[in-house]
Parts: sequence; structure tokens; C-alpha cells
Amino acid sequence: METANASTSPDVVTSVSQQVTPLTGTTPGSTAATGRQALPRDRAAATSSPLYRTGTLPTMNCQAGQIRAGSAASYRIFVQRIVNCLNRAWKTQFRKTKLAFSHPKLRFSTTKVNTPCGRWPSSAGGLYCSSNRTIYIGVTREVLKNPYPANHAQFIAHEYGHHVQQLAGIMDYYATSVWRAKSATKLAFSRRLELQADCLGSAFLRQIAGDLPVEQAQWEAMVSWVNSNGHKNWPKNDHGKGRSQAYWMERGFNSGSPSGCNTWTAPTGRVA
Ligand SMILES: [Zn+2]
Repeated sequence: METANASTSPDVVTSVSQQVTPLTGTTPGSTAATGRQALPRDRAAATSSPLYRTGTLPTMNCQAGQIRAGSAASYRIFVQRIVNCLNRAWKTQFRKTKLAFSHPKLRFSTTKVNTPCGRWPSSAGGLYCSSNRTIYIGVTREVLKNPYPANHAQFIAHEYGHHVQQLAGIMDYYATSVWRAKSATKLAFSRRLELQADCLGSAFLRQIAGDLPVEQAQWEAMVSWVNSNGHKNWPKNDHGKGRSQAYWMERGFNSGSPSGCNTWTAPTGRVA
């Protein structure tokens, strides 16, 4: 459990701070032509996203199979299957809003690669880069050492949560907010972003818990591990303390819905 968590935790530490070149005046989506809502960029995109009113994510048959220790092939298949389930779940969820939905791209890598969001250390489990809407998943010996499906599914669903934030305009709000902010403010914004991804990931995990499977004892062990260790991978407090991560994971898992995942209006103590 510990190894698996430790190896899969690192994710968007570089991408979220570097991915974004705040653009001006390029709001995708034309209301008139497509019937879609223009992508919101302001604070309301984060604080009152229509996603919070979409109810529980669909329960679905999501057979992702097993990851065999040391088997990169089995890990790739597992990740792809989880991403397929995430695509189905979030497509349904976005249909309940007027926001456009598209799949993220998925890229596996065994080595350090350059992304449009900066260089990605291969030791990290993965990351999401918003400028090319790609989830990068590391396939490394470390990752494959102790593969616990529930931990990996949570980690993948967290990265996908960043894609959801991108599609909902939350990432743009984040980017424009931190553009000129001082360091402490940047970290505070980053924590709200990351903790929300934790929560969205756990909401999804709840809905596939029966298939994965995620037993109750397993879930509790995972949360307990995160509570004690979740912050230890990060040199700066940009992902929140372990207890904050555990709190938002619980909220997502208990509700199975994005409704519990509004970190943007939460008191600072909850996003510490
Ligand atoms: Zn993240």
C-alpha cells in the first residue's frame, strides 16, 4: 500500500504550475453556433460550476482487470480501461450541463519526456497537461513494484479530474488567478485545484468500487495512509496536507458526485 501510493502520488506538480500560459480573449465555444455554453473563465467557473449540480456519477460496469507486478503490459491495459470508464462517466456528467465534453489524450512513457507543460520527471507517476489535454502516465519499475488496483485507479481518476477542471473552465480560472500572485497565494490556489481533483477522483472510484473491487477495508486503509503520508512527496504544500487530502477523498467517495467537491468556497482550514 505504502509503496504503491508513494509511487503513484506525484502528478501535476510541474504541469499545473507551468502548463498554463494565460491566454487573453480566446474563449472557445460559441453559444450561438453550437448551443454550447461558452467556456467560463472567471471565478464562477470554479465556485459555482454546473458540474456541482449534476448528481452522482453513473454506476457502470468497469472491468479493468488486474495489474501483474512487473508487467508493463498489464498496467497499460488497466490504465486504458480505467480511462475508458472515466470517459463514459464524465461524458454522461457533462451531458447534464451545457459544457462541451471531449476525451483527453493518453500517453504512456517509460522515460523523461518533454510536454508542452514542461519537462516531466519519469519518477513521477503521471501528470495532466492542459495545453494539449493529455494525461501522461509513467510506466516505471517503481510503479509496477506493488500494483494495487484501487490506488492506481484513484491516481488515474485524479489526473482525469484535472481534465474535467480544464473542460469546465476551472483550470483557466486557476491559471489567470495565479499568473501574478505571490507564492503563498499560488500555493493556496494549487491546493484547491489538487484537492478538488482528489475529490473528483474518489467520486468516480466510488461508482466503480463494486467492479474494481474496492473493499471498505481497502478504502479505509488508503485514506488512512493518505492522511498520514499524503503530503510527504511534495517539497511545497501545493497538494494540501495529508488530512486535507483524506478529507476531500472521503467527501468524493461518500457522495459519488462532484457536488461534494467544491473546494473553491471551502474555508481555508479545509484546504490547508
Ligand atoms: Zn493533481
